[in-house]
Amino acid sequence: MRGLLIGRFQPFHLGHRYLIEQIDEAVDEVVIGIGSAGQSHTRENPFTAGERVHLVQDALEELDAKTYLIPIADIERNAMWVTHIETLCPEFDVVYSNNPFVERLFEEAGYEVRGTPLHERDRYCGSEIRRRMVAGDRWRPLVPDPVAAAVDDIGGVARLQKITDDDT
Ligand code: NAD
Repeated sequence: MRGLLIGRFQPFHLGHRYLIEQIDEAVDEVVIGIGSAGQSHTRENPFTAGERVHLVQDALEELDAKTYLIPIADIERNAMWVTHIETLCPEFDVVYSNNPFVERLFEEAGYEVRGTPLHERDRYCGSEIRRRMVAGDRWRPLVPDPVAAAVDDIGGVARLQKITDDDT
């Protein structure tokens, strides 16, 4: 059985790793969609799809999970979104999401959608990690070590600080 999980992973954090560990126990293979793949260089989406593939792939090497990483750009027509995903991903049997809109679109398309367990959501949260990066606070303990190293390699914190400065 194959499960699908979609997230923006801006950046991938320890909550996401916990989630993938849980999903991996329930299915044989996990398809991980890198959502909003066309977005980058903004405060909400600082990292490109390619960078996020790199971050997630490095983090997953610590796990013994069979995964596929697929960048998925947003499209204008929500009614076609599930079909769009079906054309990009290996066939999947069940979808994991807590996002009510994502849940509705997949259920209307006939998929079983399972809610996902949250792990210390107040800390392990993309917006909190980006806030800490901008403020110069400690963000590294909230992400897997390989993700921290990859963010450093691409100058991710300096980029996010510059984007934020330019916006304000
Ligand atoms: P997200 O990035 O907010 O979260 C991904 C998953 O991680 C979710 O299941 C979330 O519950 C989980 N998670 C987050 N923190 C966690 C923690 N601490 N512990 C455990 N789990 C945790 O994902 P999202 O917002 O649902 O992403 C949906 C994507 O789908 C977006 O990129 C969106 O643009 C896209 N989308 C596109 C269209 C379209 O193109 N028309 C339509 C709908 C959705």
